[in-house]
Amino acid sequence: MRAVLYVDQETGTTVGEVPDPSPGPDDVIVAVEACGLCGSDVHSVQNGNCAPGQVLGHEFSGRIAALGSGVSGWAEGQAVAASPIGSCGNCRICARGLPFRCPVVENIGITIPGAYAQYVKVPARQLVALPEDLPVETGSHAEPLSVGSQAVKLAQVGPGDPVLVYGVGPIGLYAIMALKLAGVGPIVAAGRSAGRRQAAADVGADVVIDTREIPVAEYAKQSGTLFAAVLECSAAPGAFNEALTVTEPGGTVVEVALTPEAASVPLFPLISEGHHVVGSCAFSDETYRESVAHLAAGRVPVERLVSERVTLDDTPDALRRLQTPGSLVRIISHPNA
Ligand SMILES: [Zn+2]
Ligand SMILES: [Zn+2]
Repeated sequence: MRAVLYVDQETGTTVGEVPDPSPGPDDVIVAVEACGLCGSDVHSVQNGNCAPGQVLGHEFSGRIAALGSGVSGWAEGQAVAASPIGSCGNCRICARGLPFRCPVVENIGITIPGAYAQYVKVPARQLVALPEDLPVETGSHAEPLSVGSQAVKLAQVGPGDPVLVYGVGPIGLYAIMALKLAGVGPIVAAGRSAGRRQAAADVGADVVIDTREIPVAEYAKQSGTLFAAVLECSAAPGAFNEALTVTEPGGTVVEVALTPEAASVPLFPLISEGHHVVGSCAFSDETYRESVAHLAAGRVPVERLVSERVTLDDTPDALRRLQTPGSLVRIISHPNA
């Protein structure tokens, strides 16, 4: 089959031939219909944090092409979304809802071959069926929507709670949609890119501020707003500390952006304000299933986020272009198109 393969930091990725995957007893092979290009893949390639020949891609959906000998309840040709997160479902880490950190099972497109490829091997327990009348591509949004939803759950907010989404890249935008699904708001979104700020308004932010014109802390001061929670999705230097200054007593800062920043946190205000600080990475199996259900019911305006669709051949170039995304939000690869 053909797949997007990591070469080296200078070249990035290229399309090449690799052996077709074959299913273990409890696996299926999925013919990939759609795989979203994720910022974490873009950065892994850009920073050279991949092995030569590695196949990335973890935001995918497709149709079952082959079944392992022990798999029942699934059929060839069936439309599916698949969580890339491998979990045993039994260990203490899984029980805490952190299957991403399960030490037993690998994660597709992260530690084992992913879905920038014609076919991908998936443990059957990670599949979620898609309704036949739903475009299969829609299932590929379940992964990033789940990242947003998990952050919202950790924020412990509800209707009437003002929430700041700091950063309007794809994860910030999915977080806004997850807040809407949970009935939380008002939602203030803060970002730099004009195109992405417009997308934030279109998918449900009540107020959108341009951080090049007014810093978040200044907006909070002028408007007299403190937030019940801040979802920090920007990885902008200083954003985490700024988030703490605009969080109301007892409120929560959820760090979602994968930032290398070593923030220095003043502890006295953290203690006296009773702030909660929590990191959010990936999602639970339950959250992934909920995301598929929301998408299947047409409750999420994900189409608004799709900037481009590309073939497998054009995927390496698209990964490169996303290093400087400008107003691009989502590019979706169609490996079998
Ligand atoms: Zn991703
Ligand atoms: Zn586990």
